[in-house]
Amino acid sequence: MRIECDVLVVGAGPVGTTFSYIASKKGLDVVVVDRKNEIAAPLRGGEAVSKFLFEEFYQDLPFLEKMHTWPIEDTVIYNPVSKIITKEQKWKSFMLNRKETEKTLAQAAIKAGSKLRLSTTVTDIVMKGKNIDYAKAKSIQGEIEIKPKIVVGADGVTSIIRRKLLGDTLFSGIKDWGCAIEIEVTNLDLDSENSMQLFMGDIIGGYGYIFPKGNDRADVGVGARPFYGKNPFTSRSPFEDFYILAELNPDMNRQLKRASPLEIKGGIIDLSAPLYPVYGNTILVGDSANQNFAYVGEGIIPGLQAAVIAGQKVAEAIESNSYEVLKQYAEEYEASFIGQEARRTVQIKDNISSVIAMDLPNDIKSMLTAMLELEMIQWDGKELKTALKYKSIKDLTDYAKKLIIKKEMNIEINLR
Ligand SMILES: Cc1cc2nc3c(=O)[nH]c(=O)nc-3n(C[C@H](O)[C@H](O)[C@H](O)COP(=O)(O)OP(=O)(O)OC[C@H]3O[C@@H](n4cnc5c(N)ncnc54)[C@H](O)[C@@H]3O)c2cc1C
Repeated sequence: MRIECDVLVVGAGPVGTTFSYIASKKGLDVVVVDRKNEIAAPLRGGEAVSKFLFEEFYQDLPFLEKMHTWPIEDTVIYNPVSKIITKEQKWKSFMLNRKETEKTLAQAAIKAGSKLRLSTTVTDIVMKGKNIDYAKAKSIQGEIEIKPKIVVGADGVTSIIRRKLLGDTLFSGIKDWGCAIEIEVTNLDLDSENSMQLFMGDIIGGYGYIFPKGNDRADVGVGARPFYGKNPFTSRSPFEDFYILAELNPDMNRQLKRASPLEIKGGIIDLSAPLYPVYGNTILVGDSANQNFAYVGEGIIPGLQAAVIAGQKVAEAIESNSYEVLKQYAEEYEASFIGQEARRTVQIKDNISSVIAMDLPNDIKSMLTAMLELEMIQWDGKELKTALKYKSIKDLTDYAKKLIIKKEMNIEINLR
């Protein structure tokens, strides 16, 4: 069977369906395929989004405003030497009901005219010069060919579209990656229902977390770079890391000791710099293009931003019959606040990695890491050289407090 359409969207995750909604609203004939049998199932994970950035999408994606969102008022970082609380705007968040959000996005795309085909796996692409001519897919109806004018690779971190375009290895285009295990739990003894908690200093190159979401539930887990500086064959999995942390970290254990899982999720998180996303008649959007806030591994907001811009530019490209217009998608995404922020967060993550690799006492590393994560030290590392001169935790903390006052930040540091 052969299907012809304006746009083939590979992947009906949050980014693919957002793109499909915008493009269909512009009148394009959109076919969106996903290998899953159900939208958002199994869920890889991840329900935290920045509140003020999420609200920015209500204009383009008005149905998001009706989503149930659990408010997170502040973020607490625990490390072996301190408890740090930030109430900075950036760290105020919403916890989404992600399954419901993804189904609502898919529903909006369908109502706008997109044709969603589940249980349909793209297995190969056939090129014609620099453009994709058609895609081959396996579906419950057997082998199909889909011949679009434009292809959108919204197929996530292991994107077949990216691999086919950049070199067919699993991690083509990915230079740095992490792995997260996330468990939705109930039966909690939370310190606060509205605080996101990060546990740093115990997991090298990562952190443990508790993200409450109301109704005696929370997403808890570990985001780690499992082979960080280690032999992969002797390294612990993030799952093992999580159970050790939940047992041995007193702050985590106090809140989770009675907890029981409702759902286990997990997957790879790309932490590389965003990729250039335009190749002939094909664009990459979302995780497939490494559009992610790398210092926390959050890709929903950057992906939605890219999808909204891409939807408009693909419509213009089809209307003007010119693939050149697609390049404006790359430019506009890079120029947007969120695109710039994604670049900055890669730099923050790289600064943190360089501190972790330094020969420093663990308590100093823990404090420096928190200072970088919360941007007491500017994203480009401006004050890192000075911070590295402080050899005691008290002197370093005094410097951190000076930076907080100077930058008028709403952050409190309590030494233990
Ligand atoms: C454990 C964990 C926790 C996370 N926590 C957060 C968080 O709190 N906040 C946040 O913002 N982000 C978080 N993330 C990252 C977030 O999940 C991603 O950034 C986001 O899902 C990217 O959306 P996407 O649509 O680009 O890709 P995906 O959600 O991965 O969707 C890609 C879709 O493509 C489909 N697909 C892939 N290959 C094919 C193929 N060959 N044929 C057909 N279909 C295909 C897949 O089935 C999938 O449905 C987390 C990730 C993990 C793993």
